[in-house]
Amino acid sequence: MKLVFATHNPKKIEEVQQMLPAPFRLLSLYDIGCTDEIPETGDTLEENAKLKADFVTATYGFDCFSDDTGLHIDALDGAPGVYSARYAGPQKNAADNMDKVLHLLEDIPIRKAQFKTLVHLNFKGSSFVFEGSVHGEITTEKMGSGGFGYDPIFKPDGYAETFGQLSPAIKNHISHRSEAIQKLISFLKNPSF
Ligand code: IMP
Repeated sequence: MKLVFATHNPKKIEEVQQMLPAPFRLLSLYDIGCTDEIPETGDTLEENAKLKADFVTATYGFDCFSDDTGLHIDALDGAPGVYSARYAGPQKNAADNMDKVLHLLEDIPIRKAQFKTLVHLNFKGSSFVFEGSVHGEITTEKMGSGGFGYDPIFKPDGYAETFGQLSPAIKNHISHRSEAIQKLISFLKNPSF
């Protein structure tokens, strides 16, 4: 089954493709000829996920899902949240974003945080939402070079290493995105309207 994942990020495509059973063939935005940067102008993860999926379905006619993820840090009142990608500025640079977080959390001992992912699916004329989250804490320095985004400074609960140090297999098993995508997959295996 062909399904568009509304992202240009090859690491996300790769990560999700590894979780999909064989019948599902994931198409990226590049695969359908969409090179546009889809505006993420919503104030919530839900709104942004919907904006992206609706753009693809309306413009290209494909069934499509999109995700929007935020890192929510307790000591920063839930920031960066929906602004995670551009927290340190419009350049959307992961190293800058992590440096900003580490700076703001200097001398703050309680560093609890969670990643939250919202998936919005447009499927056969209806839409559905799936959610996933993972709790953990922000480290005091960057550790590891795997993954992307804030992975080197996020240590999931129950693990001694950051997402940047853990193998992709372990991250995929426990991650926010994985939980939301697993819910999406369960739905697609047995769609109920
Ligand atoms: P997006 O909605 O998936 O594009 O995520 C928004 C931002 O959250 C990204 O630019 C990253 O900074 C961060 N982010 C999303 N998912 C992850 C992840 O799995 N690990 C680390 N950072 C992530």
